[in-house]
Amino acid sequence: MLKSHFFKALCLWGIMKHTNFNDSLLSFLQSSPTPFHATNSMRNALIAEGFVELIEENNWVIEEGGKYFVTRNESALIAFTTPELNFSQTGWRMIGAHTDSPCLKLKPNAQVDRFGYHQLGVEVYGGVLLHTWLDRDLSIAGRITLKTKAGDIVSRLVDFKDPIAVVPNLAIHLNRQANEGFSVNPQEEILPILCGAENEFDLHELLKAQLKKQYTDLPIDMILDFELSLYDTQPAALVGLHKEYICSARLDNLLSCFVGLRALLDSDGQRPSLLVCTDHEEIGSLSACGANGPFLEDVLHRLTPNPEQYVQAVQRSMLVSADNAHALHPNYANKHDKNHAPAINKGAVIKVNANQRYATNSETASVYRDIAAQENYDVQCFVVRSDMACGSTIGPITSGEIGVPTIDIGLPTFGMHSIRELAGSRDAYGLYKVLTRFTKRDKLISR
Ligand code: ZN
Repeated sequence: MLKSHFFKALCLWGIMKHTNFNDSLLSFLQSSPTPFHATNSMRNALIAEGFVELIEENNWVIEEGGKYFVTRNESALIAFTTPELNFSQTGWRMIGAHTDSPCLKLKPNAQVDRFGYHQLGVEVYGGVLLHTWLDRDLSIAGRITLKTKAGDIVSRLVDFKDPIAVVPNLAIHLNRQANEGFSVNPQEEILPILCGAENEFDLHELLKAQLKKQYTDLPIDMILDFELSLYDTQPAALVGLHKEYICSARLDNLLSCFVGLRALLDSDGQRPSLLVCTDHEEIGSLSACGANGPFLEDVLHRLTPNPEQYVQAVQRSMLVSADNAHALHPNYANKHDKNHAPAINKGAVIKVNANQRYATNSETASVYRDIAAQENYDVQCFVVRSDMACGSTIGPITSGEIGVPTIDIGLPTFGMHSIRELAGSRDAYGLYKVLTRFTKRDKLISR
């Protein structure tokens, strides 16, 4: 009897931890409408837990027992712990993810006035599922670069938060074929409407007003440029009869950023661990702050400047590249290989591809399987149908850049690249437990 009470209490404690974890995940998603904001959200969490910010332009002093992070372009972040400084012997337990998501970005001369409406000209960033952006209550967020009255060029993040824009659908009466196949012309048909032309509208004035609202003491001379995008204001939510799903924008890949961040924060720091969250994955990762750029290599070189020891450190490391995986959708079951059809809430997915679109190999997969088994957490496997093209991730790119043994994993999701994606509410916490255990793991691959 006593035993069963104890068991019930233990289960309840598990559910509570799980629920708290999902609550903070939802608020992370909410406070991160752009890669700049996601990086800032992670930065705030790291500072709150005692991590020291390093600046790339300055000299670094790294101490044993330290916790550090560095950002690049305000949109990519590397955080790491240094319980030991002998990286060539210990290697790094690395977790990787990306901060960007497909979206609509404002063009430089974004103001479009036509047929009695003020609209915004937008560029499509990444593989957006365009029709999902119709009929949504949209807001604007991103980075504005300005000149201050003292002549300095500085940047500030803005987030309008209110639903100030919308892209209305076309009535079915004017497009009778809409349900047989729906195409959206990105130049003409996805421009959001802000207001009627009877209102005065000047984009720079609107941005200036927003800056003044958010930064009351900022002495603005003029706005010089901006990187702004639209986002859905509907908050992230738990849905389903038993709240078994998380519905939100940007689950790809802020879900993995959050899980990786929490794993690093809650690791007890027995082994050098590192979280790398890069930008521009959705457009190929080739940039100064993308996985196909030098950010990670620059940081690792500074931590192990000796070339021989640098290679030793990298080869003794392992990277878990975390990015969402396609769950088998019951309405579209023929899109999957039946033997590799991940299900929501059944654990993280190991992604395998013979053509190296995923970096997983049998050794890295085995290490991951072993850790997951120790946490009693299920492992699923995804291989794309042999008659379909395979997506990719930062895994093969990072591995190709620095040579680190890598595994590609991810949480099963529906509707990847929709404005509102869906994942399992039980999966994220499980992956967090596995990744936390990974950061403490002594042995990786024996040679
Ligand atoms: Zn992704």
